[in-house]
Amino acid sequence: MLFSKFLQNILHRGMVYVLLFILVSFVNTDLLNGQDYRFQQKVDYKMTLDFDWKNHQYSGKQVLKYKNNSRDTLYKLYYHLYFNAFQPGSDMDEVSRHIKDPDKRVADRIFKLKRSEYGFVKVLSLTKDGQPTKFDEQGTILEVTLETPILPGRSAKLEMEFLSQIPLQIRRTGRNNKEGIEYSVSQGYPKICGYDEQGWHANPYIAREFYGPFGNFDVTINMPSQYIVAATGVLQNPEEIGHGYAPSSSKKKEKMLSWRFLAKNVHDFVWAADPDYKHLTYTSYNGKTFRYFYQENDKTKENWENLPKVMDEVLQYLDRNYGEYPYPEYSFIQGGDGGMEYPMATLITGERPFNSLVGVSVHEFVHSWYQGVIATNEALFHWMDEGFTNYVSAEVMNHLKSKKMVPGEYEQNPQLSSVLGYINFTTTGLEESMSTHADHFLTNAAYGNASYTKGQVLLEQLKYIIGDVAFKKGMKRYFDEWKFKHPKPNDFFRVMEKASGIELDWFKEYFVYTTHTINYSVHREDVNGIVFHRIGRMPMPLDVTLTLKNGSIKKFHIPLDVMRGAKKQDATFGDFTVAEPWPWARQFYTLKTDIPVNQIFGVKIDETERLADVAKGDNHFPRQKIEGEDFTK
Ligand SMILES: [Zn+2]
Repeated sequence: MLFSKFLQNILHRGMVYVLLFILVSFVNTDLLNGQDYRFQQKVDYKMTLDFDWKNHQYSGKQVLKYKNNSRDTLYKLYYHLYFNAFQPGSDMDEVSRHIKDPDKRVADRIFKLKRSEYGFVKVLSLTKDGQPTKFDEQGTILEVTLETPILPGRSAKLEMEFLSQIPLQIRRTGRNNKEGIEYSVSQGYPKICGYDEQGWHANPYIAREFYGPFGNFDVTINMPSQYIVAATGVLQNPEEIGHGYAPSSSKKKEKMLSWRFLAKNVHDFVWAADPDYKHLTYTSYNGKTFRYFYQENDKTKENWENLPKVMDEVLQYLDRNYGEYPYPEYSFIQGGDGGMEYPMATLITGERPFNSLVGVSVHEFVHSWYQGVIATNEALFHWMDEGFTNYVSAEVMNHLKSKKMVPGEYEQNPQLSSVLGYINFTTTGLEESMSTHADHFLTNAAYGNASYTKGQVLLEQLKYIIGDVAFKKGMKRYFDEWKFKHPKPNDFFRVMEKASGIELDWFKEYFVYTTHTINYSVHREDVNGIVFHRIGRMPMPLDVTLTLKNGSIKKFHIPLDVMRGAKKQDATFGDFTVAEPWPWARQFYTLKTDIPVNQIFGVKIDETERLADVAKGDNHFPRQKIEGEDFTK
């Protein structure tokens, strides 16, 4: 006995030493160097843009400090040259003219541009740490071959001169948009491509999604003094500028004004300029500055004057429910075509009815959470940006309806229309998996379905699976844990697993990586209980409502075995009993309860209508009671 205890002790100590050794070596190699296999490159842009309004061009000087936080030695660098997409024969033009269902805003408009209407960005010179560097322009991508590589953990200073021509407004960016805004300038500078553990993301631009590293942008724009400039960041010299940023200085106006904007921890920079901008400012409930830039006319005046108060309510709602907006300012800028999100700003068309103006403002502002701050690689995980933004926007709009701040009736379930839209799309034969790269969908419709609609439905399904209480907690935690870190799908699902105590890998694998659909039915009743049938390939837990002959209602939740748990609270469904798990591989399942089967009058799957079941006609029993169908069929 004594000997074995001694041995145990030795073994125990041995284990402790082994553990200590593992811990120490882990700390030494990885944690102390800050080099996990996940890393984030860091950028600092300093740019000066000298505007030449006669030619709609600007010459730019860019100093980019690039910190290589990876374990890789970088022999090449890639930049985006987005403006080059606005030339006949560009990839964007090719895709737009040959896709089955072109975006009408683009169609063949690029093909018809005259040379003076093209967009371009030409890199004139580039040095790394003072040494001239070879570069090669390949459409919308610039490939840079470094003489001396950037070693792991080291920084490089890249100095560039470039010339940009602002294209005629086609999509997002451009001059003279249809509402008469002179310059909406997004994607207008050479922007370093994203580099992460999947390598470079040097995708030629075809008008879809974006991705780039976080850093600070210090941008000076030299413009003729009659222009009012709106941009990402905080204006550093408001007294000098006037124009609503500060009371106009008494000094005689200069011919040119230097606008200096500073934005910290953002991944892009947008600006717009127009001599006729009206500039309103609004101090938010928590002391932040919200700016509104628009051309005042009969279509805009009243709506834009009423917008700031509504958006302040939106900010409060989002801060409370989805995590706090981290920047000191935000600008709503009339410009572009439709609506497009950028860090600390959005370009939206402004001559809209009030409801539509609020709708687009809400959508683009919600992007501040899922594009601006969470900043997933949108090309690969578009649904984590557009889908989540759509989901939250629908909740926000419903909240505004409940407060009578926008017209329309409050809806019990503001996500229902997206669930029905997705179900409808599954019948078209056009559906492609959500895991498809944004640029590679065969149709715009399939891209729109996967990124916007099914992305939105994914959150609604998740809320149904884990319950609304855990869901709400998880969404906030996701933002707090992953802000400024470019999360990937698994990161999101892990947060939701931790918030709910439920395994979700099966859900992710089916919903994100396949186009399998959900289809259940109430099959029949037998002496043991109610039998349900999984007809579709995708398994899901079931909310089941039983109506008894005495008129009372009993609710059950049937989890899947692979969930290794079940939702605890779900205010939407109400009080329920958790039934035995359904082993997912089985097609049939019998719900056994202590209620005698002959006391059960009605059975209904998913009474809250959240489940994206593609054939709902057989989700209840008896069928003729609800649908007027013959339940014996
Ligand atoms: Zn969007």
